[in-house]
Amino acid sequence: MIRCVFFDRDGIVNQSPGPGYVERWEDFHLMPEFPAILRNVSRLGFAAILITNQRGVALGKMTAAAVEDIHRRFRRALKDEYGLEILDVFYCPHDKNECECRKPKPGMLLEAARRHNINLAESWMIGDSPKDVEAGKAAGCRTILVGDAEATAPPDYRFANMAALASAIAKLLEAG
Ligand SMILES: [Mg+2]
Repeated sequence: MIRCVFFDRDGIVNQSPGPGYVERWEDFHLMPEFPAILRNVSRLGFAAILITNQRGVALGKMTAAAVEDIHRRFRRALKDEYGLEILDVFYCPHDKNECECRKPKPGMLLEAARRHNINLAESWMIGDSPKDVEAGKAAGCRTILVGDAEATAPPDYRFANMAALASAIAKLLEAG
């Protein structure tokens, strides 16, 4: 089995679009700390997987194909510019209360675990929303909340911002 760090997307991997959605690649702006965090994750033997709610698809703001194009370009840019890779991307295109995958449900993490033989108890979920913490906990992962969102369930660790997480991530993962 492998160990994994699950990353929420908006606000962790790329800058949050606020209340809206990243509808085009031109609006996908990488968080400057993310490559260094991913480099540590990979160096320490963890796979990295994106787990993202993209309800804008259900709302007709963008197509599933547009979301997948953004993820293809993101993975290409990671490889070309930083020599980094993520193992997989899971996104939920559904509206609220119509599926088992939209966070705070753990469906995407459970599906990732099945697909890639992941040991969830030795894996981590990192996000900037209480929904990320809830999904991670429901899947049996350790959880990290970044930012000042009010936590509905207490995360295992909390950091004020991505820079603080970048400073701490290696030690956290090494400590197991
Ligand atoms: Mg987020």
